[in-house]
Amino acid sequence: MFIVIIGPPGAGKGTQAKRLTEEMGLIHLSTGDIFRENINNRTELGVKVKKLLDNGILVSDELTIEIVKDRLIDLGFDRGAIFDGFPRNVVQAQALDDFLRDNGAKVSVALSIEVQNEVVIDRLTGRRTDMKTGRIYHVIYDPPPVGVKVEQRADDIRETVEKRLSDYCETTVPIIEYYKQRGILSVIDGNADVDDVTENLVKCLSGEVLL
Ligand code: ADP
Ligand code: ADP
Repeated sequence: MFIVIIGPPGAGKGTQAKRLTEEMGLIHLSTGDIFRENINNRTELGVKVKKLLDNGILVSDELTIEIVKDRLIDLGFDRGAIFDGFPRNVVQAQALDDFLRDNGAKVSVALSIEVQNEVVIDRLTGRRTDMKTGRIYHVIYDPPPVGVKVEQRADDIRETVEKRLSDYCETTVPIIEYYKQRGILSVIDGNADVDDVTENLVKCLSGEVLL
């Protein structure tokens, strides 16, 4: 099954997608993680996109779609995936639909995690990531254990967060309507505790999982 998780930066997409992959055996496909891995490994792609990511600027549709297609071809279409951070706009959503259709697959459900802006700013400025494992922490809500080396993302400073949030409203919110019109949208309250959000997401998906 292919699932799309939508939500503003800090909504908990990465946190929840990682939990869902553990619960459901799906693959987590995060375009942000792919770009950051490439930046850390100083690949050609990483060098190309570093400045964009550091400043919260979206990578071109062409490059992003190409990377997702390559990753899907590598993974195959049998196990399904949870897309996190992709699609980011209607052009990407259409490209994903076309590509999956050409390969006999489709997006079965789009989960929109809704969170208030103040909550998101608080979450992002406190977000820390274990660079070795990719595990996401929060300095207050989910503090990293002593001895675990964590880093703050360059784009998680307040000014960049505000830009990313306004881009989300302008560019990404229209895909919520896109999936609604296709009858596959579920909306989840992301303000609750991590465990409660996971429980609600699993409930939303349980009908789908049985299909
Ligand atoms: P996104 O992938 O949507 O940008 P993340 O999953 O990285 O969001 O979460 C952003 C920050 O908020 C992280 O520090 C994470 O630990 C924290 N977080 C995620 N979900 C919750 C929640 N339900 N309650 C409190 N903090 C959360
Ligand atoms: P967040 O989890 O905070 O929403 P992501 O990890 O999804 O952030 O994205 C971080 C950055 O990676 C974005 O600001 C952008 O530069 C780039 N990026 C990730 N996904 C996409 C995409 N689908 N299209 C264009 N740029 C992307």
